[in-house]
Amino acid sequence: MLFRDIRGNEPLKKRLAAMCDQNHAGHALLFSESGEYGAVALAIALAQYLSCTHPNGQDACGTCPNCLKFNKLIHPDLHFIFPTNSTGKSSSRPLSESFLGAWRSLVLSNPYFSEETLGKALGLDEKTGTIAVQEAKEVLAKMSVRAYEGGNKYTLIWLPERMTAEAANKLLKIIEEPYPNTYFFLITHAPERVISTILSRCLRIEVAPIEDLSAEQEETEWQEPALQLLSYAAQSNLLGLLQTGEKLWELGREKQKHFCLYLERCLRDILWIREELSPRSTLTDSAKNTLQTLAQKFSNNGLESAFTATDQARNLIESNVNAKSVFAVLCNSLYNAVNL
Ligand SMILES: [Zn+2]
Repeated sequence: MLFRDIRGNEPLKKRLAAMCDQNHAGHALLFSESGEYGAVALAIALAQYLSCTHPNGQDACGTCPNCLKFNKLIHPDLHFIFPTNSTGKSSSRPLSESFLGAWRSLVLSNPYFSEETLGKALGLDEKTGTIAVQEAKEVLAKMSVRAYEGGNKYTLIWLPERMTAEAANKLLKIIEEPYPNTYFFLITHAPERVISTILSRCLRIEVAPIEDLSAEQEETEWQEPALQLLSYAAQSNLLGLLQTGEKLWELGREKQKHFCLYLERCLRDILWIREELSPRSTLTDSAKNTLQTLAQKFSNNGLESAFTATDQARNLIESNVNAKSVFAVLCNSLYNAVNL
């Protein structure tokens, strides 16, 4: 999860990266949001930034071995806790770990989700979930052993207001006196319901409502030109590519940057499809079909090269380089990427 893929909250992303760069990232952070503003994505992006071997001052690199594991939420030192309950399949209350597959799919496909959406994804049949003391015991055990990858360890607690008092008390000590290189990122939708002793030990981060384009608006605006570019590249149609690229010249710089970000998301979707993960849920069915076809045309190396070229294009636009040259180079790189 990269900062640049998360909608809105630009000043906060810069602040979080700067906190890490200055070694001021607190060991217990409470992300507070009053709606589905992407706090979970920001917390994961922060952990990824802290673990990335080549961060660039604004974001993680996205391609180092740690980032590759974070991209799929499978880094062994990244732990998740969220409210659970019994399901149709089990009479007892399983721990978060038993639901990890469903949790990862939901967070990767749409990190702007509500408690209700998570409940449905986990199959909780409208029962309210809680975080039981057994979860806290597991966290203590996991955080007390050496990190698998030798770096930091993270526990992300989604909705600490759902912790039982017993669980909160158990966690209190480790949050107060954390082991070296351990981080707790808590995400609350109701800070007034988080147990005050926990609340007082966390650095509070307010996540603002998303003011930029909604996911649906972005799809309407960028889906067609982005998929057209990638499809022409897959067909080795340089003329089609350049003609589509020309349409992007007239857009303002802000829109051109957003287009590049959207194109990067499509490339990541193709990679996910190749890895047998679901693409973004906001995509139309026809877009998903196009991405499926593209997943057969691009290799992982080709996708990485296309991703680097798109990232470069975005940086050049930011540095006021002539847009005509930037998009011509990007089209050429996409054309070459399909044969890698
Ligand atoms: Zn990295």
